[in-house]
Amino acid sequence: MPFRASILTLYPEMFPANLGLSLSGRALERGDWSIEARNIRDYATDKHRSVDDTPSGGGAGMVLRADILAKAIDGVVEEGEERPVLLMSPRGKPLTQKMARELADGPGVVIVCGRFEGVDERVIEARNLQEVSIGDYILSGGEMAATIVLDAVVRLLPGVMGNKESGDTESFENGLLEHPHYTRPIEFEGRTIPEVLTSGNHKLIDKWRLEKSKELTKERRPDLWEAYEASDKG
Ligand code: SAH
Repeated sequence: MPFRASILTLYPEMFPANLGLSLSGRALERGDWSIEARNIRDYATDKHRSVDDTPSGGGAGMVLRADILAKAIDGVVEEGEERPVLLMSPRGKPLTQKMARELADGPGVVIVCGRFEGVDERVIEARNLQEVSIGDYILSGGEMAATIVLDAVVRLLPGVMGNKESGDTESFENGLLEHPHYTRPIEFEGRTIPEVLTSGNHKLIDKWRLEKSKELTKERRPDLWEAYEASDKG
């Protein structure tokens, strides 16, 4: 069965949005993956359809209720469900290319999008939600974070990316940032393309690209460089 994404959100109309266009959009049309966005509010129990309440202990903002969210999750998660259930959260495990690959290798994903101050801690525990962050900054809701997770995953699904090789050499795939790219014209505002790239010597080209990758990684991402050097590739 194709990769299946279920999103729990207060704004289902925010999906598929960007994912309905370009590479992921064409893959969606082909049926290489599917997405359904469910409104958490549909699981509210009172006549105002409220989903949030004030934080226990006081303070600013509102918190998504554990009981409503649990019902919403149970409404989407099926018996014997094998898809991981993620919660978009700035406290979560940082999204990486490795994580995207692991998700793409699986049957799909359920993603809970937070809003307000976040969600009641008890639902995270009770439903074993895996918290995932897209970076050290605060968004107003989990929807765009979920879109980013899905974009990173969907492009890795079989058949989605036309050129398989371009996926393998990309930044992070081998622990390094990618080498620079060039294309015609040969001369642009007095700048030329590095000669080796027009030499036709693929061995030399590969060597040059790896060197550039290393240079860039060392300079811009000492954290990645250190890990690369410690690995068996370094
Ligand atoms: N009070 C929280 C932030 C809440 S932001 C805190 O300080 O940690 C509201 C929602 O936006 C969160 O519940 C989460 O679902 C989403 N969100 C915000 N920033 C995010 C990030 N960097 N990565 C993933 N999700 C994020």
